[in-house]
Parts: sequence; C-alpha cells; structure tokens
Amino acid sequence: MALKITSDCTNCSACEPECPNNAISQGDEIYVIDPSLCTECIGAFDESQCVAVCPADCIVLDEKFKETQEELLNKYKKIHSK
Ligand code: SF4
Ligand code: SF4
Repeated sequence: MALKITSDCTNCSACEPECPNNAISQGDEIYVIDPSLCTECIGAFDESQCVAVCPADCIVLDEKFKETQEELLNKYKKIHSK
C-alpha cells in the first residue's frame, strides 16, 4: 500500500530526501507521494523512512492502493532496475 501525506503537512521538507524511491515531491500546497513509486520502503528499509522523520505525523497509509508485501518488493525491484 502506498502512503499519503495529509493536510497536516507543514512543508518542512524533512521527508523528501529520505525516500529511497524518490516518491516524495513538493506539490502545489503540501508535499505529495507518488503512489506508483512508494513501496512503504519495502526493499530498502525495515520501516517507512518518511514516517520516521515526519515531525507532524501526517503520513498515513493510503487505503486506495492495496498491495501485498510481495507486490511491493517487486515494485521496488522494478523501480531500481531502470
Ligand atoms: S514509505 Fe518509503 S517509499 Fe514510501 S514515500 Fe515514504 S520514504 Fe518513500
Ligand atoms: S516530513 Fe511531514 S510535515 Fe515535513 S514535508 Fe514531509 S509530510 Fe510534510
């Protein structure tokens, strides 16, 4: 499942450089996560790096993107094989 950033984001930018998949960028109003690139950090880290550094606790699972652990790992491999 991809993660998403809620409107509580304070635009501190702490999360952006931590993402192993470059899935985070500054959007029009707040930072945003590209669901096609987020693997919950599976493949790279044991925990979601963006969640770990976010001081506003505003990064949550996006229920719209249901994926198994295996699918997320395959997604990670695909992203990094390019
Ligand atoms: S959970 Fe990991 S892969 Fe997903 S946006 Fe956060 S840092 Fe990037
Ligand atoms: S770390 Fe949290 S508050 Fe800071 S930009 Fe990222 S989502 Fe927003």
